[in-house]
Amino acid sequence: MKKRVLITGAAGFLGSHLCDRFLAEGFHVIAMDNLITGDLKNIEHMFEREDFQFYHHDVTTFVHVPGTIDYILHFASPASPIDYLKIPIQTLKVGSLGTHNLLGLAKEKNARILIASTSEVYGDPLVHPQKETYYGNVNTIGPRGVYDEAKRFQESITMAYHRFHGLDTRIARIFNTYGPRMRLNDGRVIPAFIGQALRGEDLTVFGDGSQTRSFCYVDDQVDGLYKLLMSDYQLPVNIGNPNEISILDFAQEIIKLTQSNQKIIFKPLPKDDPMQRQPDITLARDILDWEPRVSRSEGMKKTYDYFSNLSEEELFKSEHKNFEKHIRK
Ligand code: UDP
Repeated sequence: MKKRVLITGAAGFLGSHLCDRFLAEGFHVIAMDNLITGDLKNIEHMFEREDFQFYHHDVTTFVHVPGTIDYILHFASPASPIDYLKIPIQTLKVGSLGTHNLLGLAKEKNARILIASTSEVYGDPLVHPQKETYYGNVNTIGPRGVYDEAKRFQESITMAYHRFHGLDTRIARIFNTYGPRMRLNDGRVIPAFIGQALRGEDLTVFGDGSQTRSFCYVDDQVDGLYKLLMSDYQLPVNIGNPNEISILDFAQEIIKLTQSNQKIIFKPLPKDDPMQRQPDITLARDILDWEPRVSRSEGMKKTYDYFSNLSEEELFKSEHKNFEKHIRK
């Protein structure tokens, strides 16, 4: 009998890659998504399989899954600053009510549950790099507060279920991750820059570009998450790539990668945009024997290949209205 895993947010970027990984590991995958930000095209290649099933369901309402469940991975949530502005209430609900429902289901099914938390629990961090012991610097009422606070609540209720009910829980603090199947127009910097380069638009750097991020390729991220789920460690663990770069330097890397001659233009920095972000992954290295393996140049090449194969219609539909009708390949 195959072990059965429930993955929420399964039609999203990370969720769909998790489905691929668990199928490859020999699990029966039960995928769930309400398709607000997810897209069925990310998982349609699995639909023919007998060891895969899909529920179109919103986890903020009661979650019922017949049969046994061995593992749950809760990855349902909007996850980009544009989404937090467009759907703030849903963002709060899926992190709070949705997590509560899934913890309840895990308790009922006696399943181990891994919760997708985030580097956003550190807010605009005053400690660098960020260790799991740092409590963070979050603006509760800013535009990102709906995501940050939902995720902080999610960690609290998960630990409460662990301590009070003895539930078998895992908490991953996920740092910026990229790769194929990101949404082209979710506003995140990697699809934004690649999309702009492919459309022949200027690259929009927010602020002066001195803010930093550390980008993890999706295969490394999924591997870290898999190892965390299979470990016996119950406290939060950072999963990300410590290789840090400023957004301005990153824009220049993209121009080289895409061999486009685009200019960089500067736009105002969004409110509460963290100035620096870099995971300290000492804990993950120690307890999971895990660290990222894919270099940024290798990962970005794969990601660029994915986006450059999108249809012209997909590339041009969007919030982007003022572009030159020109695709570079
Ligand atoms: N960013 C940018 N230009 C864009 C989109 C994003 O300069 O077109 C910046 C953004 O202000 C932030 C960084 O890139 O400093 C990463 O943004 P993203 O939304 O990808 O992730 P997050 O801020 O959640 O880490």
